[in-house]
Amino acid sequence: MNFLEERILADGVIKPGNVLKVDSFLNHQIDVALIDQMAKEFKRRFADKPITKVLTIETSGIAIAYAVAREFGVPMVFAKKSKSVNLDGEMHVAEVESFTHKKTNKVVVAKKYISPEDHVLIVDDFLANGCALQGLISIVDSAEASVEGLGIAIEKGFQEGGYRIRNLGYHLESLAIVESMDAETGKITFREEL
Ligand code: 5GP
Repeated sequence: MNFLEERILADGVIKPGNVLKVDSFLNHQIDVALIDQMAKEFKRRFADKPITKVLTIETSGIAIAYAVAREFGVPMVFAKKSKSVNLDGEMHVAEVESFTHKKTNKVVVAKKYISPEDHVLIVDDFLANGCALQGLISIVDSAEASVEGLGIAIEKGFQEGGYRIRNLGYHLESLAIVESMDAETGKITFREEL
């Protein structure tokens, strides 16, 4: 079991609706030493990629993406949730359905912050159905930049996002893949690392 899996077992709380709460170390209070360790692990896993930018989505991806960007020595950009309908053409836009809030958000990235020369590493805290990642991929695509890989802290392997993204041919690395979790018993199992 790796360091993140151990932490999930120690401090993760399973909520109804297939939601894993990790507020005590990742989503509300942040264990910065843990985030640094995760960032080093992403650096190791994507060491051969010519990353020029790290992209995430607000809010909870930001802390991880910041640490990853520091490891690679590149800027970090986060997609913003936008309420405005009139976007001025200076923005890349994607529609993302929120897993936890069950509503659709427009997310935007200013065109000037991702350009065709960029080699982008996409980072997020959770992967469930894959909507957030697909929105971020579509932003990189509309910038005509390349997606070098996707780094996820916690993938819920029993939901379809991971399968979908890997099936599209992307290099997806998740530090912990939850195979099953039971809100009644509190039991969590992880996919074995290969
Ligand atoms: P997806 O778009 O893959 O369905 O869901 C990913 C997004 O929803 C992540 O950005 C994350 O913020 C949120 N999310 C999905 N599942 C969970 C979960 O079990 N726990 C928490 N805390 N966030 C989740």
